[in-house]
Amino acid sequence: MQNVQCEAFVLGVMDYGEADKIVTIFTREHGKLRGLARSAKRSRKRFGGALEPFARLSLQLAMKDGLSTLNGADIVTVFPNIRRELVKIGHAAYACELVERLVPEAEQNNRLFRLLAAYLEQLDRFENDPSDRRFFEANLLKVLGYQPALGRCAACDTELADAPDLRFSPSFAGLLCGKCGKTGKPIAAQTAALLNRAMDTGRFGQVRFSPGELAEAGELLDAAIACHLTRPLKSLAFLRETGA
Ligand SMILES: [Zn+2]
Repeated sequence: MQNVQCEAFVLGVMDYGEADKIVTIFTREHGKLRGLARSAKRSRKRFGGALEPFARLSLQLAMKDGLSTLNGADIVTVFPNIRRELVKIGHAAYACELVERLVPEAEQNNRLFRLLAAYLEQLDRFENDPSDRRFFEANLLKVLGYQPALGRCAACDTELADAPDLRFSPSFAGLLCGKCGKTGKPIAAQTAALLNRAMDTGRFGQVRFSPGELAEAGELLDAAIACHLTRPLKSLAFLRETGA
């Protein structure tokens, strides 16, 4: 057992037994962990309102393999502006569920920590923009090493710049040229170029998709993410219900 202080986002919270909660957190220092918060259910004294989904916390943690113990939590921010809007709550929950489901336990990933922090700050500070969700997803795939191949045909390796009849193939995890891709979803070269730019800049607000590009980019990203999931995301159903 090792006592550590760390920064973390709450990815998920569930009741455990009569009095306790188990919290899934994504820490800057140690990656994704699960922690037992004793008496968090019975008394709010110890953890206050800290153990809320997507809150950013400073934590005192006794680290163990499997299940760590939360000894204390201070709130850095609960992102109050996100919590005022159902659609924003849906997006924040979706981002956290993606991290929870796609990231292996106990692997530090500072770039991913910064990406999640930047997205939640963007949602908290600005109007919700559907481009931001797609920007987050594209960069999430990149940071995790699942970046779809968009520059060259995933089957024959032809350069795709300005090529006509591009198609996206989830099984190739990338774009196919007109010769190789007969069945995949068509995608405009401009949409592919915007997705590439999104993964190059890394700053929210730099890339905006038009409604048509958003639909194409969305289908591509949804399929690229679904390849790495074994069951559907709960938060995606909620996002669809809220019309986001
Ligand atoms: Zn090809």
